[in-house]
Amino acid sequence: RHKAALDARSKDDLRSPICCILGHVDTGKTKLLDKVRQTNVQEGEAGGITQQIGATYFPIEAIKQKTAVVNQDQSMEFKVPGLLIIDTPGHESFTNLRSRGSSLCNIAILVIDIMHGLEQQTLESIRLLRARKTPFIVALNKIDRLYGWEAIPNNGVQDSLAKQSKAVQREFEDRVQKTKLALAEQGLNAELYYKNRNMARNVSLVPTSAVTGEGVPDMLKLLIDLTQNRMSDKLMYLSELECTVLEVKVIEGLGTTIDVVLSNGILREGDRIVLCGMNGPIATNVRALLTPQPLRELRVKSAYVHHKEVKAALGVKIAANDLDKAIAGSRLLLVGPDDDEEELMDEVMSDLTSLENALDKS
Ligand code: GDP
Repeated sequence: RHKAALDARSKDDLRSPICCILGHVDTGKTKLLDKVRQTNVQEGEAGGITQQIGATYFPIEAIKQKTAVVNQDQSMEFKVPGLLIIDTPGHESFTNLRSRGSSLCNIAILVIDIMHGLEQQTLESIRLLRARKTPFIVALNKIDRLYGWEAIPNNGVQDSLAKQSKAVQREFEDRVQKTKLALAEQGLNAELYYKNRNMARNVSLVPTSAVTGEGVPDMLKLLIDLTQNRMSDKLMYLSELECTVLEVKVIEGLGTTIDVVLSNGILREGDRIVLCGMNGPIATNVRALLTPQPLRELRVKSAYVHHKEVKAALGVKIAANDLDKAIAGSRLLLVGPDDDEEELMDEVMSDLTSLENALDKS
C-alpha cells in the first residue's frame, strides 16, 4: 500500500505546505498572523483567503498579491497551490502537533523581538524545532521600534531599510549582529535572508514589523521559496492519509467533535477512521466534514459548510460518534477495504508512548 502511494507522487502536483509560528510571549506572533491575514480593503476579499478550523488557508493568488512588492521583476515562480498557516501560535500547541517524531509543520516561523533578542521561550522553541527536525526561518520582528524608524506600510524590507537614516541603519545592523551572535551560541548560523548564500546551512533572518507590515511580503516569499524549492519531496500528494488531531471540542448539536489538520491525502464522509483515545483506540465513521461558513454567509443558519470530501492540506472539523475520549495530538488513520482494523488500532496507540516521551523530554 505504501509503495503504491509513493509511486503515485509527482513534483508537478504539490500540495500546500503547512506553516506554524512560535517564539517567546509578546514577540508579536498573533499580530504577525493578523497582518498576514489582513485583506486589502480596496480589493474586497483578498483572493479567497479562508478561515478554516485552526488554520488559515492562503491560495496562491493571495500570496502573489501579498508578495508583489518584492517580486516586481516577476522572477519568482509559484509551484504550490497555496499555504496553510496554523492559527494557534505558541509552542504548547506545537508540541502536540506531531506525528511519529516528525512535525506536522513543513516549516516554522520563529519570531524574535529585535529589541529583546533571544529570550527563554525562544530557546525552548529552538530546542523543539531541532527535536522535530523542522526547518524554520526567523522573523526579526518590531523593526518599527528602532529609534527614528520611518515606516512605509507593507513595503519590502530591503527598500524600507535603504530609506532609513544612517543612525537607524546603524542600530539595525548592531541588533542583527547581536542576534546572530546569540544564535551562534545556540549552535545556529544565521544570516539576513537576502545575504544568505547557503540556505541549507544558515537560518534566514527576515526583519519584519507586524504593525507597519514591512517585511511581511519578504517573509511570505521566503516561505514559498524554501518550501517549494527545498522540500518538494515532502509536498507531493500521497493517496495515503496524513492527519493529526489538534483539538477535541463539544459543539452544541454535533456532540464531541475533533478538529484535525489533514496534511496529506483525501478524507470522505462515511470513511472509517481510527485514532487514540484515553481508554484505548477509537474506531468510528466520519459523520460530517465541516469548515466554517465564510464571513459573508453569516446569515445562513448553520455555522458550518458540509463537505462530501476534502483534500490536503486543510483544517477541518470531524463529527462522529464515540469521540469523547479522543486525544489531541493523535494521528488519525483511515481504514481501507483491505486493512485490518485491529492492526491500525495497535499502530495508532503505539504513537501515544512516543507522544508521552516527547512531552516528558521537552
Ligand atoms: P504574542 O504573544 O507573541 O502573540 O504577541 P502579540 O502579537 O500579542 O504582541 C504583543 C505586543 O507587541 C502587542 O502589544 C502588539 O501590539 C505589539 N507588537 C507586535 N508586533 C509588533 C511590531 O512589529 N511592532 C510594534 N511596535 N509592536 C508590535
